[in-house]
Amino acid sequence: MSTIPRELTRYYRLLRRHGINDSHSGNASARDAEHLWITPTGACADDLQSWQLIRCPLTGGACARASADLALHRAVYQFNPKAQAVLHAHGSYAVALTLTGRDYVPADLEGGLYFPRVPVIDMAYDEYFEQSPERVGKALSEFPIAIVRGHGMYAWGDDLDQAYKWICSLELSASVRYHALCAGTRSAIEDGA
Ligand SMILES: [Zn+2]
Repeated sequence: MSTIPRELTRYYRLLRRHGINDSHSGNASARDAEHLWITPTGACADDLQSWQLIRCPLTGGACARASADLALHRAVYQFNPKAQAVLHAHGSYAVALTLTGRDYVPADLEGGLYFPRVPVIDMAYDEYFEQSPERVGKALSEFPIAIVRGHGMYAWGDDLDQAYKWICSLELSASVRYHALCAGTRSAIEDGA
């Protein structure tokens, strides 16, 4: 029996526990050879069970009960053969600070080491499902993490732990910047806002 469903459930719950997702937002997948495991549509992170995870072919059409972002996850694995896991979260600091649509450039040391620049993908909200697979997939073939403006971040990793690290690091970096703006130790002008 694959251990992937249990690990996916664990990381999906961690994103919620640490406030980077709400009860039902975000999703998670991991590659399993020519298939992927993904969280079900409408999943609640507070009580998701590993037996509820969905196994889908890596390519193809609809897969019953899979996350509405299935096509996006498939695109990431197709554009980036190194990707073994993809996590999506609605980190409020990262989303709030990039509503301008400009790419995110960390002000803190660790953020800058991990992500000298994080692309912000801007698309009309009503065109999200049409455009997001190709645009996010292409961005994640060049960058470890990307932000969809007004929505959330997507990260890939060699494994779930690495994707989780990128999500947590970006959200912490964005919170540092937010608090610096509030404290007046960095101005919005410096940030190009
Ligand atoms: Zn989302």
